[in-house]
Amino acid sequence: MIKKDGHTHTEFCPHGSGDDVELMIQKAIQLGFEEYCITEHAPLPPAFEYDYAGEPTGFSEASMAFGDVDDYFAKVALMKQRYGDQIKIKVGFEVDFLPQYVDWTRSFLNQYQDQIDESVLSVHFLPGVAGKYWCVDDTTEDFELGLLESVDEPQALYQRYLEQVKASVQADLGPQTPVRIGHLDLIKKFQDDFNLPNQFDSHNQELIDEILVLIQKQHRQLDFNIAGLYKSGCNEPYLDLATIGKARQLGIPMVYGSDAHSIAEVGRAQHLINYF
Ligand code: ZN
Ligand code: FE
Repeated sequence: MIKKDGHTHTEFCPHGSGDDVELMIQKAIQLGFEEYCITEHAPLPPAFEYDYAGEPTGFSEASMAFGDVDDYFAKVALMKQRYGDQIKIKVGFEVDFLPQYVDWTRSFLNQYQDQIDESVLSVHFLPGVAGKYWCVDDTTEDFELGLLESVDEPQALYQRYLEQVKASVQADLGPQTPVRIGHLDLIKKFQDDFNLPNQFDSHNQELIDEILVLIQKQHRQLDFNIAGLYKSGCNEPYLDLATIGKARQLGIPMVYGSDAHSIAEVGRAQHLINYF
């Protein structure tokens, strides 16, 4: 198996470190990576601002600016030119799944279809309090006030997340539909901050089974995202052991994702690649 990072960010990410992707690539080369997939957060549909509640930066800094998309592709093209003989560089997006904006998202991807190599599809926002969308992985305050408070018990929130992931896998996003499903259980990011269950209950396990069968049938992949391991309230990679076992049984490829937003984060937990 080749040594690949399938989920990384760049200086075009407003909530990142600002570190130059060139230096991140240099570190990946130094660590012996053979493939490096750059997946900056795709711009969100502008109208989503009105569906969203919570910390304003949770929307405004969630994704790359529209005006930066061309510069982003140009920068990666230059990187391919400069480092292509040392590492295979791929470019795409981390695409947000928002059920009410599937058409919008499909046309966005279509617009750049000639330039995209591969992308990741992620759920970062869920409906919660006041019928608004809240960010799953921004602040603990928004998670608590916007999402946890909208359910009677945490498994119901887990269920809402997994149902959204299932819808994302079923969505028709056109020819550039992302091949990889991002951090399937990101909803556990704050599990240790709020003492939430670490395991999914039997109903949610069934939902995961359904999602995995869909992914298998579609010949898609899972993002084995190690960022959760380094979140003080999570302490676990995104893809828990139970899900890894199921995915392995179904023969679903799991691709290591550092989700690096800085040079320091490139290659974190890289030895876990050997488990797949
Ligand atoms: Zn990010
Ligand atoms: Fe993400």
